[in-house]
Amino acid sequence: MSFNSLGLSDALLKAISKKGYTTPSPIQQKAIPPILEGKDVLASAQTGTGKTAGFTLPILQLLSQGQHLSRRPIRALILTPTRELAAQILANIKEYSEFVDLKSTVIFGGVNQNPQVTQLRQGVDILVATPGRLIDLQNQGLISLAKVEILVLDEADRMLDMGFLRDIERILKVLPTKRQNLLFSATFSKDIKKLAMGILHHPVHVEATPENTTVDAITQIVYPVAKEKKTELIIKLITEGNWKQILVFTRTKQGANKLTESMISAGIKAAAIHGNKGQGARTKALAGFKDGSLTALVATDIAARGLDIPLLPHVVNFELPNIPEDYVHRIGRTGRAGASGEAISLFSPDETVFLRDIEKLVGLNLPKENIKGFEPDPNASKEPIKQGQGRQQRDSTPRKPKTDTTNRSSNNSFGPRRPSQNNDRRSNR
Ligand code: AMP
Repeated sequence: MSFNSLGLSDALLKAISKKGYTTPSPIQQKAIPPILEGKDVLASAQTGTGKTAGFTLPILQLLSQGQHLSRRPIRALILTPTRELAAQILANIKEYSEFVDLKSTVIFGGVNQNPQVTQLRQGVDILVATPGRLIDLQNQGLISLAKVEILVLDEADRMLDMGFLRDIERILKVLPTKRQNLLFSATFSKDIKKLAMGILHHPVHVEATPENTTVDAITQIVYPVAKEKKTELIIKLITEGNWKQILVFTRTKQGANKLTESMISAGIKAAAIHGNKGQGARTKALAGFKDGSLTALVATDIAARGLDIPLLPHVVNFELPNIPEDYVHRIGRTGRAGASGEAISLFSPDETVFLRDIEKLVGLNLPKENIKGFEPDPNASKEPIKQGQGRQQRDSTPRKPKTDTTNRSSNNSFGPRRPSQNNDRRSNR
């Protein structure tokens, strides 16, 4: 299938071709036609599937066909959980809208609001926003959403994880009731389904792959290992395997820092990326990882979302996630677009419950392999270690209305990505 057959205008096709895209990704093929028809869409997709173009291209087309008002009220509102993702979406919109007469801007917390307000005053057709800053400006009477025709909730699952549900509800109240709604989410918990049901009208469901399945091209392996030997094992795997680019997941910010320090001491070029890192440090770490000057990027789940991380040969779960859907997100960063990848999980006995839940979610009994000298004590406790008993706090991000500091998002390329089921552990994140 080509972009021409999707019914997009010449101006958009020109921008797409300038961007170098030749074929629409599966989510684009499925989402663009119903959006162009003005339908509500419920899409199962995460970063890396091409979902941003999947909703921005038809929005640009609909708005450029619509009536142009001289004052340019906001006609499309795109809500995203983090400032990184918001900035990334705006960058995409700017590229795709090069040949159409539409203005767009972004607002997010953690920075001075004045330049954002100035932009808004000049008039924008499309606004990308994180919920906290949007509510802030709305409360100050600096923004009007009365003319919004299209609402996008991007990474809706993450917005709920980050505690934005109440903000979203408040925003919905100030939007016109008659509008087109698009909801994108990588996972589908009960809460997401409830939110979707409350917002969407007879939505068209689109998804790139079925729910909660992991990507066939990914080799998944679990190494049972004594908890205290995980650091030694990962260093051995990286150095002896001569791995060049590896994304490592920890459950906590402190865990990410500690592991990074150990790797650096072992001569591995590594950096940590998590919610406590400033924007500069995160950008620098990601750039180093992409250009090959860093071998290992150690990330928490939340920090990894929203990052445009390239196709990776190796993803390692240094600690298993306690939210099983996170496992699917994590390993989706390897084995993309038909390339093969390896997802390795270092599994200690206290993570038995987490592994069981992951296997249940993905419907697989993951292969396990002992590595000599690293096997766990068969009598070790299988009880999860509770917070305050040696386990540090997760990189969870409770509501911070004025600073959308955390970021997240995922892989990039067009394959699979899987959504999920309900999960009552989210409330602990
Ligand atoms: P997204 O899932 O929207 O974050 O997109 C992931 C990456 O894929 C971004 O770097 C996009 O620029 C790129 N991309 C989006 N659509 C296409 C396409 N049809 N062909 C090639 N690359 C694309």
